Amino acid sequence: MAGRSDLTSYDYRKLRARILAESDVCILCGHGAADAIDHVIPVSKAPQLAKDPGNLAPIHGVDGCPVCLRKCNNEKGNRPLAEVIRLVTSVDWFAGP
Ligand SMILES: [Zn+2]
Ligand SMILES: [Zn+2]
Repeated sequence: MAGRSDLTSYDYRKLRARILAESDVCILCGHGAADAIDHVIPVSKAPQLAKDPGNLAPIHGVDGCPVCLRKCNNEKGNRPLAEVIRLVTSVDWFAGP
């Protein structure tokens, strides 16, 4: 049962609510109103971080971004999010103020 969605929908919803309560700024495009979450380090590489909020980031899901209209989660595809973030240099939410 290994795959991209190893979270049960219950776990996912709980985690998503928690992540999005802290920030709904999409990790990929940098705009707000993200409605989904994704793993920064893929679960295949770090299964122990599968449910770690520190390894989850807001991202625009199926509805896409209302600002730039990108389908961020789609666009990311199967690439690890950590790899995608490296391309988006303006995103420095990791470092904080
Ligand atoms: Zn986005
Ligand atoms: Zn956007």
